[in-house]
Amino acid sequence: MTNKDAFAQAKKFIPGGVNSPVRAFGSVGAEPVIIQKAQGAYLFDVEGKKYLDFIQSWGPLIFGHCDKDIEDAVIQAVKNGLSYGAPCENETNLARLICEKFDVIKKVRFVSSGTEATMSAIRVARGYAKKDGLIKFEGCYHGHSDALLVKAGSGATTYGNASSAGVPADVVKNTHLAIYNDIKSVEEIFKNHEIGAVIIEPIAGNMGFVPADESFLAGLRKLCDDNGAVLIFDEVMSGFRASATGAMGIYSVKPDMITFGKVIGGGMPVAAFGGRCDIMDCLSPDGAVYQAGTLSGNPVAMAAGLASLTKINNTPELYAKLEKFAKRLMQGFSNAAQKNNIAFQTDVRGSMFGYFFTSKPVKNYADALTSDTKMFAKFHNAMLKRGVYLAPSQFETGFICDAMSEEDIEFAIKMAEQSFDEIA
Ligand SMILES: *Cc1c(COP(=O)(O)O)cnc(C)c1O
Repeated sequence: MTNKDAFAQAKKFIPGGVNSPVRAFGSVGAEPVIIQKAQGAYLFDVEGKKYLDFIQSWGPLIFGHCDKDIEDAVIQAVKNGLSYGAPCENETNLARLICEKFDVIKKVRFVSSGTEATMSAIRVARGYAKKDGLIKFEGCYHGHSDALLVKAGSGATTYGNASSAGVPADVVKNTHLAIYNDIKSVEEIFKNHEIGAVIIEPIAGNMGFVPADESFLAGLRKLCDDNGAVLIFDEVMSGFRASATGAMGIYSVKPDMITFGKVIGGGMPVAAFGGRCDIMDCLSPDGAVYQAGTLSGNPVAMAAGLASLTKINNTPELYAKLEKFAKRLMQGFSNAAQKNNIAFQTDVRGSMFGYFFTSKPVKNYADALTSDTKMFAKFHNAMLKRGVYLAPSQFETGFICDAMSEEDIEFAIKMAEQSFDEIA
């Protein structure tokens, strides 16, 4: 079976041939390779071709594919039943691990996707604050629930429908849009509306990679305190990725609530939202805010998450190593671009990296949109051809995993040099 044939079959039965839009490679004018298996730092397609994987399932696999410890934990858990629909001890064990690491989080509830985590966190926040207004930032992506699909990043931006069709105007009338890293735009909204919650990716990974300024986050903290609004850090991507404690490891600003996903499931569908006791106790069955899930806290998924976070705790040098690799990779890409007079910006936090084809540093969504996406597409395809699997959209982030070696990074840099020479 060729990639082309397999994708043609997929398109017959699945809209666009994919179950999440960015996977279709549309924005780089290509077709996806169809994956047959993965191991460590590598993916293998149905034609047997090997790729160095800088997507790592869009973040979850911080130790790479088929990590032995996570794999063993999952196999053990499977033997004890796939789902109980009743409490199990590993839910508490994983919740405890998260609360121990993030001191603002006193209680967490598990869900199965980041979309559910942010949607539910906002519901609790509004229920607690007793105000409907919500502020989100242009280019931030918080999953695909209706109220959040307004100028959303990630696939929504990639496919040119940052504000989705099918979302009634009534549903988004309480969603107010502010500009990332621009505190004045937030002040303006607070002046004119009753705001119950502010949600932000403190280290944005869904308009490309754009970390917030410390002073901007401090400004948000103050506005929320002054106006009785709940500050939610969406760390579905950056939690356990940008540092061992996500944004908390980088900024001194503390949110009221944090949402998690991706790494906390180690590759299984796990996400969570947590916060202070007085906020989280608003949740049903203790409080009046309803939220539920048939497969929430699934025992196999909990075992994978627990193995993943335990391994992170037992690997103290992890983030320093991943950041060293990310910086080396971006330096290599940068040098190769510069040699060919291609405008190029890069940034790194921990295991996350990003690059834009533009001449000035990217601070917000409008800046991100100035990137030359045609050049991005050419670079992407040139790298894929050479066995380097990078996110197929400008409006995504790259990830280093622990299974990568120095040789892998040097290989990717060499391929970038060849690719820039080819496309310049
Ligand atoms: C991936 C992501 C989500 C959505 O998570 P899903 O599991 O895809 O629903 C939400 N917020 C952020 C910051 C993300 O990166």
